[in-house]
Amino acid sequence: MGMFYCLSTTAGLQAALGTLSPATTLGFVPTMGALHGGHVALIQRARQECDVVVVSIFVNPLQFGPQEDLERYPRTLEADTRLCQELGVDVLFVPDVAELYPRGMETLTLVEPPRELTERLCGRSRPGHFRGVATVVLKLLHLVQPDRAYFGQKDAQQLAIIRRCVADLNLEVEIIACPIVRDADGLALSSRNQYLSEGDRATALALSQSLEIATAAFRQGCFTASDLLAPIHNHLRQFPQLRLDYAELVHPQTLVPLERIETVGLLAIAGWVGQTRLIDNCLLDRRLPILAVDGPAGAGKSTVTRRAAQALGLQYLDTGAMYRAVTWWCLENNLDLRDEPAVVEAIAHCQLRLESSDPHQPTRVWINDREVSQAIRSLEVTQRVSQVAALRGVRRLMVRQQRAIGANGGIAAEGRDIGTHVFPEAGLKIFLTASPAERAQRRWQELQQQGQCDLSYEELLAQITARDTADQQRTYAPFRKAADAIEICTDNLGIDEVVSKIVHLYRSRLPQP
Ligand code: AMP
Repeated sequence: MGMFYCLSTTAGLQAALGTLSPATTLGFVPTMGALHGGHVALIQRARQECDVVVVSIFVNPLQFGPQEDLERYPRTLEADTRLCQELGVDVLFVPDVAELYPRGMETLTLVEPPRELTERLCGRSRPGHFRGVATVVLKLLHLVQPDRAYFGQKDAQQLAIIRRCVADLNLEVEIIACPIVRDADGLALSSRNQYLSEGDRATALALSQSLEIATAAFRQGCFTASDLLAPIHNHLRQFPQLRLDYAELVHPQTLVPLERIETVGLLAIAGWVGQTRLIDNCLLDRRLPILAVDGPAGAGKSTVTRRAAQALGLQYLDTGAMYRAVTWWCLENNLDLRDEPAVVEAIAHCQLRLESSDPHQPTRVWINDREVSQAIRSLEVTQRVSQVAALRGVRRLMVRQQRAIGANGGIAAEGRDIGTHVFPEAGLKIFLTASPAERAQRRWQELQQQGQCDLSYEELLAQITARDTADQQRTYAPFRKAADAIEICTDNLGIDEVVSKIVHLYRSRLPQP
């Protein structure tokens, strides 16, 4: 935006956001202020991934119980404002209670998340808390209308509830979870840590220590709730000053208690140190990490990813083939590709099936039980696929399918937004590049080998450059390198060299016992 706004009215906020072009990616970080390193991490991530960043600070009375710390909750607006400005935030939204609840809080329209999510864990000792959180977060999401909203994994139950509300109420925002930020001694950062005396702090550390002990047991092969919770209780027994509220193993999305971790579990813990209530948690993930390979067309992504998948025993997910298949379907049915609703509606009815067991063969693809493995490689599909993939509704449908395929981990996927958008939590992200000249050369050779040499090298180069530009400029999920991706340029590297680099990187990221 080029300016820093600190706004306290919804009118001002909407005026500021109203000036943005529809192509702008908007990131939003809701907070209660007293900003610390945890908030900073969310804001920095939003800054890296979005064109415009909005942060809100609102100590929401609706989510505090009558005996809780609403009055004494730390308020450090001046320092928070300075910090936001330093971090390159565009808009800081700081409404007061009357601005957000102009008709009071007694007769407010409320967002009531499902009881199965709110009546567990923190919900048991904080009745009504998550209703208050969901109501204010949904109000803020409606006001800001962000593309992406950033939440801390620290508040794991809040995160699960927000995700569920957003899905249930059909909001378009992407909810991004960011890892817990801790002090050097392990204590999870929290605005409430300001309440702790030195002695309290030593007691509070028992929470993160007990989670570390349980994590070590998990790495040694303990997967049952009893094996993971026993060392936590053993450790906490040494700290009688800590009043434990709960220590539980649940599923991170459904919050259903788990007896044993099959794929992923959330070990969540809460307790009081004096008057201060603290929470902490850790994710214990048995799934193999996802390998995400992104890069421009012709960088060698598909060959490299296929081979790396085979070497690592991962399932190869050919997202390009998915986009090609639906493009083929549109062409086959004579759809006007500019007629977005018709295209999206048609694709929403399509059933796709992919099979990539042989790394030396192209992925086999069926659409509505018709095999199209060959047909989707035609020049016509190649020329049109970018246009179809640029449609927001098409991408939404494909991304949903890709995430479902990746839900149990252990897949290798390549495309143009795998690490940034489809699997932002991928364990290893590679950005594979090659110069346009090199890519055009490779494509030309490939077409010659297939006997389809009706395009000259120059024409191919022009096509590739045009596609790069279109991908970078498209409004929905534009093509860019993820902040945590490792870039490999393949201009002077053989395929084997690239594959072995990736295999090595992946193995080095597997959890060590
Ligand atoms: P709060 O201001 O406490 O409501 O928190 C605002 C956002 O920051 C929420 O999404 C929190 O989950 C997140 N957050 C708070 N503490 C941490 C932390 N230590 N690490 C990561 N995120 C955090």
